Amino acid sequence: MKIGALKEGFEGEARVAVTPSSAGHLMKLGHEVFVESGAGARAGFSDDSYRAAGVTVLPSAAELIRSVDVVAKVRQPSEAEIGQMQPGQTLISFFYPAQNSELLAQAKEQGITAIAMDMVPRISRAQKMDALSSMANIAGYRAVIEAANNFGRFFTGQVTAAGKVPPAKVLVVGAGVAGLASIGTAVSLGAQVYAFDVRPEVAEQIESMGAEFVYLDFEEAQDGAATGGYAAPSSPEFREKQLAKFRELAPQMDVVITTALIPGRDAPKLWTRDMVEAMKPGSVIVDLAAERGGNCELTIPDERHVTENGVTIIGYTDFPSRMGAQASELYGNNVRHFMADLTPKKDGVIQHNMEDDVIRGATVTRDHDVTWPPPPPKIA
Ligand code: NAD
Repeated sequence: MKIGALKEGFEGEARVAVTPSSAGHLMKLGHEVFVESGAGARAGFSDDSYRAAGVTVLPSAAELIRSVDVVAKVRQPSEAEIGQMQPGQTLISFFYPAQNSELLAQAKEQGITAIAMDMVPRISRAQKMDALSSMANIAGYRAVIEAANNFGRFFTGQVTAAGKVPPAKVLVVGAGVAGLASIGTAVSLGAQVYAFDVRPEVAEQIESMGAEFVYLDFEEAQDGAATGGYAAPSSPEFREKQLAKFRELAPQMDVVITTALIPGRDAPKLWTRDMVEAMKPGSVIVDLAAERGGNCELTIPDERHVTENGVTIIGYTDFPSRMGAQASELYGNNVRHFMADLTPKKDGVIQHNMEDDVIRGATVTRDHDVTWPPPPPKIA
């Protein structure tokens, strides 16, 4: 089959869905690989580097879409992109079907097979295709780098001839994939790291990384197990305890990284105005939940601003794109692993097996049908 990557149209997006290296793997599956000219430029992959890897470079999006069986993208498709596709063609990209019902309807009308990388079931077998996790890992790392870049002091403690420097105190709120990456990065920079999550089962993991889990004095533990490992909304009593603890910590913390999310909901507001006002001048907040409204009350999505009391608040929503080369490599690998499952005989022939939990889970439209939401996966 012919697989081609489009240049991302979203402003500022640096990622690309196929890299010269992932193209090589796709060819080993028996596929021919194409890219739109300039698709990899912002991630540091020139047209020539694709050609050297055996990829055919096509001059425009229209020509690429006309020439391939599978269109690969990072960001959700635009109406114009779907509109140019033909029945029987496959699209593979982030899609977010729950938030994009009109795009879903259009993909159905158009008769294309749409594979949503955000819908890959989070089961062990599919970890290599889990683009949500690979991007969250980058976001968590980059959040600490942005924080360090905006913090006027060392992260690590030092004893120098010119004076003693205490380590920075970093609080990470939410210890999912992104939060754990932030914890690991901040610990490796030498900071004193504290972390909190409503799922108590992550305490051990946090402590094993050299950070301190912030315990609440609360009898009824929150149990994420009933929600498949994801967080459920907290009770008002629990939330009060949590906010009281954060109020106590706010004046002591130099850096706060918030990553708390509950699937399908707006981000819970956990870092309130009074907490920001209680922080020391020069402190930094990085709100990784900005795209879903932010965990901090004062976050402005896509912006960095400094409050009157000198706290920098970063609400960027493009952390993976800020590391475009790395993010493209990992996303490209997620896509080519998915393509490997679609090409079981490595003969360049796609077998779209809707009995397979992973393929079924990620397929959101097929044969003029909306196939989202999928039935729950059989294997955990
Ligand atoms: P997420 O992005 O949905 O949420 C981030 C974190 O915020 C979660 O840890 C959540 O518990 C926490 N949170 C929510 N409300 C909070 C609050 N009020 N205060 C503090 N923290 C709060 O999470 P994610 O990174 O996508 O991962 C969530 C789950 O999915 C985890 O159990 C993880 O182990 C699991 N997972 C499994 C796989 C796999 O098996 N392949 C892959 C990735 C993630």
